[in-house]
Amino acid sequence: MTSSARPLLNRRLAEFGTTIFAEMSALALQTGSINLGQGFPDTDGPDEVREAAVRALRDGHGNQYPPGPGIPELRGAVAAHQRRRYGLSYDPDREVLVTAGATEAIAASLLALLEPGDEVIAFEPYYDSYAACIAMAGGTRVPVTLRPDDDGFRLNLDELRDAVTDRTRLLLINSPHNPTGTVLTREELTAIAELAVERDLLVVTDEVYEHLVFDDAEHLPLATFPGMRERTVTIGSAGKSFSFTGWKVGWVTGAPDLVAAVRSAKQFLTYVASGPFQYAVAEALRLPDSYFADFRADMLAKRDLLAGGLEQAGFKVFRPAGTYFITTDIRPLGESDGFTFCRALPERCGVVAIPNAVFYDHREQGAPFVRFAFCKRTGVLEEAASRLKTLAA
Ligand SMILES: *Cc1c(COP(=O)(O)O)cnc(C)c1O
Repeated sequence: MTSSARPLLNRRLAEFGTTIFAEMSALALQTGSINLGQGFPDTDGPDEVREAAVRALRDGHGNQYPPGPGIPELRGAVAAHQRRRYGLSYDPDREVLVTAGATEAIAASLLALLEPGDEVIAFEPYYDSYAACIAMAGGTRVPVTLRPDDDGFRLNLDELRDAVTDRTRLLLINSPHNPTGTVLTREELTAIAELAVERDLLVVTDEVYEHLVFDDAEHLPLATFPGMRERTVTIGSAGKSFSFTGWKVGWVTGAPDLVAAVRSAKQFLTYVASGPFQYAVAEALRLPDSYFADFRADMLAKRDLLAGGLEQAGFKVFRPAGTYFITTDIRPLGESDGFTFCRALPERCGVVAIPNAVFYDHREQGAPFVRFAFCKRTGVLEEAASRLKTLAA
């Protein structure tokens, strides 16, 4: 402690003091609950990818500082992946940057591209690090609320257009979207791209769930739309695409000037990270299409298992078109406040979930919504579904 009365945590970060995830995970432990709060898989990704990491470690690949932009093998694999899947071509030397997970990619992008006072438009509810990173960069966040209809949470394009001012520097887009599971359509992405071009905005697009889209939904990278390649920073994550969230390997693709700017910030954050894992992820990105198809099919089955259980328990379920998460409405259960509900849920039936209100500036908009993660083993989801069913009784 210091003797001054001044708070230790600076004003920019004061509102982000503690996260709900810590509170809810502690509650899960205390009560022996199934933790469907935090979004990480409870099984590891492909054996051959894990073995590639072991091999890299043993062979002395990446045990010392890897090159600042990432190892050439991984930058080449990222570029090949973007070309193979989306027809986007990036120069591995000037247009690809490896980061310490998507988290660092987001932080470095915002720290690099924002001046204090710049406005950043982001969808609300938003991934929790967006608000903190905008604040660290001295920017001002301008939320545009995704609003629920029967199908799910949708973007209102008029509200998005109205949110742009002369101070807007950047659109921070996330599709597939955490926590709602919304996947932006071709029409929505076209409108976003037109707006960005018309108002000369930069775009940072968080596409970490690019491989987790379900049913008829299709992931269309924003960088493929007209006028977007030169103004868009695209972010990916090996944690999410290969189920190794602890490895913290992510990447950025974009035009050379954008990537150079992001690299300037990134070099003073971690400088480099995850040496041996970079070799393994380079192999993972070259896995055949069947890996990605099986991954998606597995997660789709898990989504349907948990969605069915939640419906039987009495929740209104917004069946997600992508991601690890299901957002529910608790009002059919006679509840209205997600915080109260989530704090009581472990005692009531031994399951932990997250109140979506934490992802909102306008907390009242998110009050009745609660998020459950389905990236868990089938047996765990079955047990959670059977516990949740006691709510309906
Ligand atoms: C998990 C997640 C991230 C962070 O990814 P890491 O690679 O683990 O840092 C970023 N954005 C969204 C939307 C996420 O859900």
